[in-house]
Amino acid sequence: MNQRFDVVVVGAGMAGWTAARRSQELGLSVGIVDKGPAPGACNARVSQGFMNAAYLSMREDPAVLRDYVREITSGAVDEDLLTVWSRTCGRALDWLQAQGVDVGTLPERRDRLYLLPFKISPQGLRDVDPERGPAATIARHERAFTDAGGQFLPESRAVELLTTDAGAVDGIRVRSAGGEREIRADGVVLADGGFAGNPEMLRRYVGPAADRMLLRSLATQTGDGIAMAVELGAATVNMQYFYGHMLSLDALTNDELWPYPLMDGAICDGILVRRDGRRFVDEQIAGSGGSRRAMSGIGVTNAVGQGDDPRDAIAILDASGWALKGWDEERGEFQGTYPANPTIADRGGRVHESDTLNGLAVEAGIAPDALEATVAEYNAAVRAAASKTLPVPRGGNPRLVEEAPFVAVPCTAAITYTLGGLHVTAAGRVRATGGGVVPGLYAAGGTAGGLAGGTKGGYTGGLGEALVFGLLAAEDIAASHCA
Ligand SMILES: Cc1cc2nc3c(=O)[nH]c(=O)nc-3n(C[C@H](O)[C@H](O)[C@H](O)COP(=O)(O)OP(=O)(O)OC[C@H]3O[C@@H](n4cnc5c(N)ncnc54)[C@H](O)[C@@H]3O)c2cc1C
Repeated sequence: MNQRFDVVVVGAGMAGWTAARRSQELGLSVGIVDKGPAPGACNARVSQGFMNAAYLSMREDPAVLRDYVREITSGAVDEDLLTVWSRTCGRALDWLQAQGVDVGTLPERRDRLYLLPFKISPQGLRDVDPERGPAATIARHERAFTDAGGQFLPESRAVELLTTDAGAVDGIRVRSAGGEREIRADGVVLADGGFAGNPEMLRRYVGPAADRMLLRSLATQTGDGIAMAVELGAATVNMQYFYGHMLSLDALTNDELWPYPLMDGAICDGILVRRDGRRFVDEQIAGSGGSRRAMSGIGVTNAVGQGDDPRDAIAILDASGWALKGWDEERGEFQGTYPANPTIADRGGRVHESDTLNGLAVEAGIAPDALEATVAEYNAAVRAAASKTLPVPRGGNPRLVEEAPFVAVPCTAAITYTLGGLHVTAAGRVRATGGGVVPGLYAAGGTAGGLAGGTKGGYTGGLGEALVFGLLAAEDIAASHCA
């Protein structure tokens, strides 16, 4: 690989390849490194490929996107980022399609765009089918990039940011089997996916036991970019928030139970308690309507994952609630995944069942008297349409837990990727703690933060956000280069 480029990109995932390809289009010389083997170890490849903007269409009216994201992030969003993201989503999707990437709807889900062909992410994220849409997208980027003369260096980990005497970032130090080397560039884009795979950073930023969550992704996102940038005085934002879901506790030892099925929907159809028998979180924290129920799952997962024990959460449902299978009935049955009921039991996960709450509690290891009291208090509040006045308020459209047999599903919080990260400007430049920016440094995708987070599970769409900010970073570098 050359020792000098206009741009060098760290991480060959959705954000990294977008920044690299767009930089090439704009006439820049580009190098890209990834610590994993070709075609990369990125999570984009194993994702479902659902291209969305906060679960809405990326072609939605920007004003609608802005209002909705303001609501679901409950104030955690940076307004500059929100404005530029909402205005760029549609153009970014056009750009992706112009690259020859197949983006379209499914016969059973005409309102959603996927990277095609659609195939559910493989269980345990093993044996990735290279034909599935997300994997084909990454492979297409790599081919186009090298065909256009770009240099891709797999199995090469960025370990340090290099700076000029004036403090501008002007390259990276890379470690590979052959030793270390320096690669210089006018602009460095950090696109290494965030820190979900770094236990120490999870404990420091997310919660005291956050490393006990199930990692619902490849462990390649080790926070290197954030750590290197913070050493140079970069600012971070929303570091406690992450994208993830509630899964069967048995997914910790059984690959057939992750990344799907999710327990998020089922939790909305019942209540969530700890082993002490008490509720501790609003199971439908983002409310109902649109994608709020889905956001609630992310919000609940954050509350559990940020707490003292991310593995102490048991979903309690009655017969009619469990019969709904955990599907999101507000948006129709198809979720591109598997229903919690009967998939969890069919694949060997624990689903306790009893005709009485007392019997259920004994079987599931929950304090029996407390569980009975919790359900009685909850049912009384639901009957009185007063669930929001419970000691732990309950929003959305709560269902009674009254019809035997009752069901208990032990759950764990599972993290897919971190929503917080380096605080970037609308151009993707990394902000400095003392104000201004770290010159020459950009971040995109899971490494960047400021658009998503908040207690209601404010998620803006990982692939879409990576696409938008990969594009914007490249365009800003090109503009600075020409200036
Ligand atoms: C099972 C699953 C399903 C998902 N489904 C969806 C979905 O349907 N829709 C959606 O929008 N999002 C989805 N996501 C999330 C989505 O995959 C991520 O938001 C997206 O991949 C982020 O892109 P990225 O480029 O930031 O990171 P990644 O795609 O993870 O790429 C980061 C790359 O950086 C490399 N790297 C890390 N450290 C270094 C270093 N020091 N030096 C060099 N390289 C490094 C890694 O090896 C990796 O290849 C899903 C994720 C998973 C796991």
